[in-house]
Order: sequence, then C-alpha cells, then structure tokens
Amino acid sequence: MVNKLEKKTLESWLENVKEYACEGKVADYIPALAEQNPEHLAVAIYPLKGECIYAGHSEKCFTLQSISKVISLALALIDNGEDFVFGRVGMEPSGDPFHSIYRLEQHTPSKPLNPMINAGALVVSNMIYGVNAHERVGRLLSFIHEMTDDHSIQVNENVADSEFNSAFLNRSLLYYLKQHDVIKGDVEETLDVYTKQCSVDVNVCQLARIGAVFANEGRDIHSNRQIIPRHYARICKTFMVTCGMYDASGSFAIKVGIPAKSGVSGGVMASLNQFGGIAVYGPALDEKGNSVVGLKLLEILSNRYDLSIF
Ligand code: GLN
Repeated sequence: MVNKLEKKTLESWLENVKEYACEGKVADYIPALAEQNPEHLAVAIYPLKGECIYAGHSEKCFTLQSISKVISLALALIDNGEDFVFGRVGMEPSGDPFHSIYRLEQHTPSKPLNPMINAGALVVSNMIYGVNAHERVGRLLSFIHEMTDDHSIQVNENVADSEFNSAFLNRSLLYYLKQHDVIKGDVEETLDVYTKQCSVDVNVCQLARIGAVFANEGRDIHSNRQIIPRHYARICKTFMVTCGMYDASGSFAIKVGIPAKSGVSGGVMASLNQFGGIAVYGPALDEKGNSVVGLKLLEILSNRYDLSIF
C-alpha cells in the first residue's frame, strides 16, 4: 500500500515524468521566477504517521506563490471568523484565469468569487491582523513555522521585490477593490503583505508537512496540537478541490481527485485526509499556470494507489 512507498519508487516516477517538463514554460511575468531551472524536479510525501520520503532536488527552495493563499485563508479565518471573511470574499469557483479582473465589475458589491483567485486572495491578505505589513507577514511566517516546526523558513526578498515592482495587475485589482470599499487601509501595504506571503521559500518536505497539517484536520502531525480549527482546515481543503488548480480544477478533480493547490513557482501542495501531505516541484507550467510535471506525478500517484476522494 501507499505507506510502503519507498524513495526509489518516487525516484523512478520522477524519472518517468521528467520528459514532460519540456511541454511547459517557466513563469516570467514575475522576473525573478524566470531564473528557475525547469529541470529541477522534486517530490515529497509526509504521511501522518512516519517520516517524510522525498526524491529529486528536494533541497531546492521555491516560493509558495498561490499555495500561500490556502495558508493566508486559514489565518484570516482564525483572525476574523467565517462570517466576516465570507462577507467579503465568495465561495464559488470562477472558471477564469487566476489574475482575471473582469468578474469584479459584474457583481455589486465587488466581492471576488473565491479566495484562491488573486482578487480574493488580496482581500484575504488585507484581513490578516497586524499594525503594519511587517507584523502581518511576521504572523503569517510564525503560523508557517508552527505548521512545519521549522523556524528557518523565510521570505525570499529577491522574489518579493521582483513581484512588488512588477505587480501592475494585482495593484489594479487592489485599487479597484479599495474604490469599492471591499478592502480597508493602504493598498501598497496590502500588496506588500501579499507579495511577501507569495515569496515564502520552502522545499518539498516543508511544503508536504504543511499539506499534512491540513490533512490531519488542522493538527500538528507529531504533537497532535490543534493549529487550525478543524472546520477551517476543512474549508481550506474544500477550496483546494473546487478552485485549487484555477480554471483547471475540474479536470484535476477528475484525473487526480486529491485536494491540492498550485503556485506559479511550479509548486503543488496536496492534502489527503488520513494519509498526509504531498508536495511536488517542477517550475515548467502549462497554459493555466500549473506545474506540468506536478500534475503528471500526482496523477500517477493517485491512480497507482487509488487515492481519489471521489
Ligand atoms: N504571486 C503570484 C501572482 O499574484 C501568484 C499567482 C499564482 O501562483 N498563480 O501573480
């Protein structure tokens, strides 16, 4: 069974899927991400019981990008409660690209459809408690340290600056939301928080452990301490199913069927109840912004061990 999975099996799967990397393209709209090497591939599985197994470039750090949206949502729910959060951001999949702006004009008030698209995630970042960007980002980092039991995890300032200086579309979304009173406070400060949360650097084992906390109903996998209330962890995993792969969430649910969230760095974090967390890294992306190798690998894993939740 899956708990008997060995490092050499993961290595052979990576070997089998690496040819797909050439079908994708590394993100370059954030200039620092263009420096990633499409041949760097890694996978890690963190079971709820047992040690993390990993293969490939597992030491390589990459930024969370949109995977951070699941984490910031959990923290915003803890800070503000469900009614407040979903008073400002919806629960429905959009079927649009993650950075799309046009739906905001179609609804009054301009409530973003869900927290996994950029408009919704920006509203969520705006809700995280703190007197300034530094404190808000610090709280997010502490939250990640708690989930991973690893205080070495930090923001990659180079990627954060690169995104902050080129985030014209996210700025537009924020100014639009500010105009319509959906976000409070300073736009540039919220963008600072958002770009830094997206730029938190992790490796696959650290990311798989975060996935495992969600899979463990919000509890730390070693001490069993509740870090995220169970109900909020469940909300996050549900969004991972309905919106985690942007406008490819439907086909991913059919082919893989595991709650998962991707980011434009090429990372994917998956969470499977009673099993654990899975993380894949492969920076070459398909046209929807999902890791080509990541999707292939998760498909193999799901089919091989019959992991679909459906
Ligand atoms: N930081 C990225 C952005 O806002 C995250 C997008 C993503 O990973 N899909 O564009």
